[in-house]
Amino acid sequence: MSNIDDLIAKLGDIPFEADEKRIRGKSRDFYWYSPILKEKLEHVRADLIVAPRSEAEVVQVLSACFTLGIPVTPRGRGTGNYAQCMPLAGGVVLDTRNMDRVIQIDDGRAVVEPGALLGKIEEQTREESGQELRMFPSTREIASIGGFVAGGSGGVGSLHWGMLREPGNLLRLRIATMEENPRLIDLTGEEIDAVHHSYGVNGVITEVEIALAPAQNWVEVIATFDTWERSLDAGWRLAHHQGLFLRELAAIQAPIPYKYFRLHRKFFNGEGDNILCSLAAPNAVGPLVDEIERHGGRIAFRSDLTPPEAKRGLPHLHHLTWNHTTLHALKTDPEMTYLQVGTPKADPLGALATIAERYDGEILGHVEFVRAAGHVYASFLPVYRYTTEERLKTVVRDLEALGCTCYNPHAYTYEEGNSSGPDAARLALKREYDPSGLLNPGKMIGWEDPDYVYDSAGGWHYEGMRRAAG
Ligand code: FAD
Repeated sequence: MSNIDDLIAKLGDIPFEADEKRIRGKSRDFYWYSPILKEKLEHVRADLIVAPRSEAEVVQVLSACFTLGIPVTPRGRGTGNYAQCMPLAGGVVLDTRNMDRVIQIDDGRAVVEPGALLGKIEEQTREESGQELRMFPSTREIASIGGFVAGGSGGVGSLHWGMLREPGNLLRLRIATMEENPRLIDLTGEEIDAVHHSYGVNGVITEVEIALAPAQNWVEVIATFDTWERSLDAGWRLAHHQGLFLRELAAIQAPIPYKYFRLHRKFFNGEGDNILCSLAAPNAVGPLVDEIERHGGRIAFRSDLTPPEAKRGLPHLHHLTWNHTTLHALKTDPEMTYLQVGTPKADPLGALATIAERYDGEILGHVEFVRAAGHVYASFLPVYRYTTEERLKTVVRDLEALGCTCYNPHAYTYEEGNSSGPDAARLALKREYDPSGLLNPGKMIGWEDPDYVYDSAGGWHYEGMRRAAG
């Protein structure tokens, strides 16, 4: 009898799936955005998918897995981009989809279970209280709140509210520890930071308390510009006007909009259009349009003025932004992938202009304007035409020489994805809450090698990774 059979015997009536096809599907995420990860991780498989329905069942699963020494990888809806929820060492994938309740909605806050879809939460908070999420990833309709908290970083809303980690956005997390007798611990304040964006390596989130904002009837506005520089310049200026209440502002370089946003193509003039995509509060639309025109832009689309028949079948504007931009490109040109780049604080537009000139046709620009600790940043998420791993490394080194920070989306570890060495707070928590290192193994280099020195070239290999069959 294998330890998986032993585990099944201990699960009682907790739902699980052992079908090979289902296991394969739930052992993957959007890691295939990266040609490098696609090749390395294609074979990764769990042994069993377990889908508890309550916090008590999570505790039961963790206790059983701890006793049997079985690794556990939490999974929301598997929309992460860097194999975040892929079970590198096999074992159990803990699927939270049966824990999807909105438990409580109050003025300015909601308490939810981890498997709740962000879109469903927002529907319910709007309906019951006239409030909305402060921010969401562009995968709002298909991603869970637990996955966003443990894997994501920000998104639509971050221009106004800052990144997810900023104090006040996440109010409380409850986690279950990976021990023989798992503890349930409520984390607030700074303690939240060490679990947020930690890929589920130091606790399984069983409840999330998030801040809400008064709901707005957001208007989608898309403007076109003749040059990339003009669209960036307009975006940069608009992002600084806090009186203009914008939920989203992204600049996307030609030819991406015309070539890859097929359903919006009818609103553009041609492949030369660079665009600014924005979501504006109703009272900000007039001033926003004035500002765009003053900066040489042409309003190509307004959701409040476009007749319903012309809008039929159009994706939401947020499905053109964040990591959706790359998805549109990838669907047409499979050699496309992406980079995640922090631009230099001192002269972001200067660096972006140099990159556009130097990598014409290889790097297609996409900037998300965000606010962090009160400062506006031009977060660069360009589409990248991939040829070889060596070439990619050369480009990354060059961007770093320009003062950029590259957050490697072609690596599966926390450190490489965050451009950092081992994080002391995250590691300390893992030692305390997951003493046997069974939660999502292989994702935190510091656990395997506390002396690891960050290398932007990536390529760190987890020795415990289960080999490909055959
Ligand atoms: P999963 O992919 O299932 O999990 C993500 C991580 O969280 C994994 O490490 C997993 O182990 C861990 N985890 C999940 N649930 C728990 C739990 N209960 N306890 C502990 N750990 C847990 N991300 C952004 O931040 N902003 C964006 O705008 C954005 N846009 C995207 C667009 C596209 C097209 C795609 C493919 C991805 C995008 N992402 C973005 C990445 C991803 O969609 C989000 O981070 C999303 O919120 C992840 O949610 P999920 O439920 O799919 O999580």
